Amino acid sequence: MSVQTATLDFEIMPTSTPTPEADRLKAFENLGFGTLFTDHMAVIKWNVDKGWHSAQVTARTPFQIDPASSVLHYAQEIFEGMKAYRTADGRAVLFRPEENARRFNESAHRMAMPELPEGDFIAAVEKLVQLDARWIPEGDSSLYLRPFMFASEVFLGVRKATDFIFCVIASPVGPYFKGGMKPVTIWVSQNYTRAAVGGTGAAKCGGNYASSLAAQAEAAAQGCDQVVFLDAVEHRWVEELGGMNVFFVMDDNTLVTPPVAGTILPGITRKSLIELARDNGLTVEERPYSYDDWKADAASGKLKEAFACGTAAVVAGIGTVKHQGGEFKIGDGQTGPVTTKLRSALVDIQRCSAPDTHGWVHVLRGV
Ligand SMILES: *Cc1c(COP(=O)(O)O)cnc(C)c1O
Repeated sequence: MSVQTATLDFEIMPTSTPTPEADRLKAFENLGFGTLFTDHMAVIKWNVDKGWHSAQVTARTPFQIDPASSVLHYAQEIFEGMKAYRTADGRAVLFRPEENARRFNESAHRMAMPELPEGDFIAAVEKLVQLDARWIPEGDSSLYLRPFMFASEVFLGVRKATDFIFCVIASPVGPYFKGGMKPVTIWVSQNYTRAAVGGTGAAKCGGNYASSLAAQAEAAAQGCDQVVFLDAVEHRWVEELGGMNVFFVMDDNTLVTPPVAGTILPGITRKSLIELARDNGLTVEERPYSYDDWKADAASGKLKEAFACGTAAVVAGIGTVKHQGGEFKIGDGQTGPVTTKLRSALVDIQRCSAPDTHGWVHVLRGV
């Protein structure tokens, strides 16, 4: 895939107060998710007259935000989620970063924000990881990368802003779900929907997450790990989780996943798993799947497994589904063999312990 070339020169300014190595090692003993951050950040500014400018990798430090910054009022904000991995042979790699760069610009377009040339997006990520390379954990852990952009114009009128800040921060992470490979329990939301046709469901914007949190809280109150959303019109078709796509494994070795047609976030993990499933001789159908079928197929045994997927949690088996008035199990309620096999196929490529036949791995130089 061709990537738009980089246009910017980055000023690299390492912090004068790096985290002492002993403190980093201590923090690495017990990695959670999204609580520990590296020493640096990449920042690029945009202005309607100047375009993209002032690209830097610098000490991670708070922004000065004016109370009238438009992001605080109208939520022009988008983000990406990706990871840097340390391979067994000591290299540092990214997974399909050009896909994140491209999706970032699709989100920017939907939210009336400026697009960043893909090469500059990737360069910002690369330069940050190169400077913070000692923060890439080994083994099953990884360095979660969070590119994001927000409107920084000081203005309360409602129109697209004239000033934006693009930034990348990095967070060493362990497993997303504390239970490890234990299957997750899912709550079917009857009260809330996530996205409607013509809305922002396919954009990775903070607002989608804000609107999912009440449903997520409902799920937690029901003892569930995650919420699954049905479509906004008929309340019938399974769409996705708050931050993960969903797959169903049928007894004839067919994989079913809802189509990404405007209301579902086009996950890169989803896209990669579709290709890996086909490599493994499975049939993949991107088609609407109803909640009624889900229940009926789980009861009849036609549905063998279900799983959720995304960069943060990778692949998580769905064991139990709860809804108002009951619950049902999928298969024996454990993570199934197809789910486990697909997860390994993906993780092995990401960690370079299997051949990268699709050209997905992006090796970082000098790390
Ligand atoms: C980020 C995200 C996903 C997963 O995308 P990946 O590229 O696989 O990480 C799925 N659904 C939503 C709503 C998301 O925001």
